[in-house]
Amino acid sequence: MRDNLSSFSFTKALGAVLVLLGGVGPALRGAERPPNFVIIYADDLGYGDLGCFGHPTIRTPHLDRMADEGLRFTQFYSASSVCTPSRAALMTGRLPIRSGMCSDKRRVLFPDSGGGIPASEITLPEALKTRGYATGCFGKWHLGHLPPFLPTSNGFDTYYGIPYSNDMDRIAGAGPKGRAIFWEPRTEYWNVPLMRDTEVIERPTDQTTITRRYTEQAVSFIHEHRDDPFLVYLPHSMVHVPLFRSASFEGISARGLYGDCVEEVDWSVGQVLQTLRDLKLDRQTLVFFSSDNGPWLPFRDHGGTAGLLRDGKGTTFEGGMREPTIAWWPGRITAPGRVTLELGSTMDIFTTCLTLAGVDVPADRVTDGVDLSPVLFDNGPSNRKFVLYYRGTQLMAARLGPWKAHFFTQSSYQKDSRERHEHTPPLLYHLGHDPSERFNVNDEHPEVLVQIDALVTEHRQHLVAPPSQLEIPLKTDGD
Ligand code: MG
Repeated sequence: MRDNLSSFSFTKALGAVLVLLGGVGPALRGAERPPNFVIIYADDLGYGDLGCFGHPTIRTPHLDRMADEGLRFTQFYSASSVCTPSRAALMTGRLPIRSGMCSDKRRVLFPDSGGGIPASEITLPEALKTRGYATGCFGKWHLGHLPPFLPTSNGFDTYYGIPYSNDMDRIAGAGPKGRAIFWEPRTEYWNVPLMRDTEVIERPTDQTTITRRYTEQAVSFIHEHRDDPFLVYLPHSMVHVPLFRSASFEGISARGLYGDCVEEVDWSVGQVLQTLRDLKLDRQTLVFFSSDNGPWLPFRDHGGTAGLLRDGKGTTFEGGMREPTIAWWPGRITAPGRVTLELGSTMDIFTTCLTLAGVDVPADRVTDGVDLSPVLFDNGPSNRKFVLYYRGTQLMAARLGPWKAHFFTQSSYQKDSRERHEHTPPLLYHLGHDPSERFNVNDEHPEVLVQIDALVTEHRQHLVAPPSQLEIPLKTDGD
């Protein structure tokens, strides 16, 4: 029988061998290499816009199959209801207020912004690089378009995509005035650059082929790195207005142009998953599909739907921040086709990937993600117990278990969007019984408001908010 000392030496020696074989963390007992990660992030896709989330006329067979083979989250949240802060949180596992990637004056970064994701932030690809991951970003970045803020300065080996939203850089005088330009969009109305790494390679970007091209780039990256652990981040520009799809998707959807675009994103998901199957990497790859924020409702049928959830993009009602989310990892996600009611957040993707890769979560700062492994592998409740809903720097609402308290409410992109309503006591909804946030029950459950108040007090005690990156102007010559 081995004594304790020799047992220790044996374990240590085995660990050294495993490290020589390419670095294996404590979460990966027996695995030869850490798992690959693919994150597919749609833009402005609503909670109700997929077949497997109940849309009656949009067909999403590939996402439906992904859900049948994986895990569907019905209570999964973005950390913001608009693009830039949402993506900052996904990349850092931290609330945007902690990184300065939000603002009460400018809600996202623009082409005239001079700021971006601070170098002091540890991004998901930067953390995974410490384990030898190959990292590629293919799509809309929106965390700063100047050199220090681009993907290749923040942990990605390669980048192919547009640096900000596809409706920015609108060309003066081009197309119909006002919002009418969106109803029959043409790619030449917006001077959006397409970049490879740090170079602009096309301007304006031909947006009609952009979903297909991001997909092709991601697929070839997977082929190229089939023998390495890899992270593929595929943040589609679609289905953010102006809507574009390639010729083979024109007019195919009963939902019209918006449906065509969702169905092309669905095709893209199918291409990525089939590539993983063909390369026999499917059992070594965790794939997440989600969206950065809810549907942009004022754009009528060019925006999506949050289904039974209230309101949409820009707001802290459920329609603004709850996202249609699917996780896929054949052979590892238990009980495929499962639907979980457990809480999750895009910030948890950061922590989950690091944990599965055997990389330590940064300990020198507050992170807001949790490891979702108990939910993925169906061996316990979610580590996530609450959700905080920020609009810029203002904490608007908080969810604890099924209960959501609104301290403030404000609609978005509507005529009354400047009006912020304070609620004392807070409005209280039971999201299990009342997912549409219709029935305020604060007078019946004062004890819940006390619990939520304690949670918020605790959160604020540890909150440090640096100056906003979104308010830094672009320096021009002569400044
Ligand atoms: Mg968005």
